[in-house]
Amino acid sequence: MTAPIPVFETLGCRLNAYETEAMRGQADQAGLSDVVVVNTCAVTAEAVRQAKQKIRRMRRENPDHKIVVTGCAAQVNPKEFAAMDEVDIVLGNHEKLDPKSWVNLADTSRNDRVLVQDIMTRKTTNAPLIDGLGTRARAYVQVQNGCDHRCTFCIIPYGRGNSRSVTAETVVEQIKRLTGKGFNEVVLTGVDMTSWGADLPDAPRLGDLVSKILKQVPDLPRLRISSIDSIEADPALIEAFCHHPRLMPHLHLSLQAGDDMVLKRMKRRHLRDDAIAFCQTIKSARPETVFGADIIAGFPTETEAMFENSLKLVTQCDLTWLHVFPYSIRQGTPAAKMPQVDRTVIKERAARLRALGVEQVRQHFEAQKGAWHTILMEAPRKGRTESFAPVAFATDQRVGQIVTARISGHDETSLIASDNGQNAPADPL
Ligand code: SF4
Repeated sequence: MTAPIPVFETLGCRLNAYETEAMRGQADQAGLSDVVVVNTCAVTAEAVRQAKQKIRRMRRENPDHKIVVTGCAAQVNPKEFAAMDEVDIVLGNHEKLDPKSWVNLADTSRNDRVLVQDIMTRKTTNAPLIDGLGTRARAYVQVQNGCDHRCTFCIIPYGRGNSRSVTAETVVEQIKRLTGKGFNEVVLTGVDMTSWGADLPDAPRLGDLVSKILKQVPDLPRLRISSIDSIEADPALIEAFCHHPRLMPHLHLSLQAGDDMVLKRMKRRHLRDDAIAFCQTIKSARPETVFGADIIAGFPTETEAMFENSLKLVTQCDLTWLHVFPYSIRQGTPAAKMPQVDRTVIKERAARLRALGVEQVRQHFEAQKGAWHTILMEAPRKGRTESFAPVAFATDQRVGQIVTARISGHDETSLIASDNGQNAPADPL
């Protein structure tokens, strides 16, 4: 009979994906084999529902394994998961990256069931170094964890605690390690990345970290920033972003809404004109930049006129990759106590935003026809451009490799590459 191997299931964000790799390494070192680890997300009620569904399936498929549930949903509500018959152990978000936790889990004489401490007491973030991300072509690197803000709709700070930064030295060491393993692209990830450094000596800013990485890891071809709060982008970050070719011309913005009254009720730190001005500044300095953004549809008290302002913001900021979130009530957040928008209206508004997003993508794809792009291959016939557009190839390419190709056309979901490399101009962009 084959020895059981640990099974890891990741839900949610890139930070969770990075942490799963760190847990995999620690479980391995502890000699743990018969475990299933479900790394959960709590960002929406739907995410929590999916976590429970996943746990039940994992139990059915792995009757003899220990089921360990961790991640934000487990941190926010450990009792809820401990009460599930399918669950053996609930592990907190800090405990999941502590090597001792995995050694204890391997110790069959122990019968801890809930190992979840108050995440708000955490002053540091443990970021074990990783060697890769399974079969992924790009590597996620944690630079920051937690959040000091308290947006009225958001449950994340209760799952991740207050903001803590990984030191620049550790981040650079991690990226050197991944570049040494052959990664051609690294994505910086965190919860509220623009607050990086606020808790470190001399309070450096995210722009300082990015400049340090680009300087100290010259072999890294592509550095990508996952998501930022544009109003908190520091001058050094904007400078590096506008002028450094190895920093990818793609930014995902945490905008959330396009109406000032809604933004105020969300307790966001920016107004719609700030977002528009930020995008115009970046685009005027680096026109090939492509923006993505998180936008919530149907936040409590949002009227039709307020929602129209969110629709207008999409074109005024020229947003392409839209992540649309139908408002999801999160118990324990201030917004949960506000007058709610009707569910059908929320769904209808989310559908209108998504439809606009599809049109924005189509226009972006149309504009790429005939253009040359450098593309990181994520699969034998699929890759992404520097501005994160998916590209389909007719022939197999090496995964993880950067190829140069001319775009001949597109379908609904992807650009189509042709003529890759042979007649590429010296500088494709
Ligand atoms: S900035 Fe706001 S939305 Fe983002 S994690 Fe913090 S509280 Fe949540």
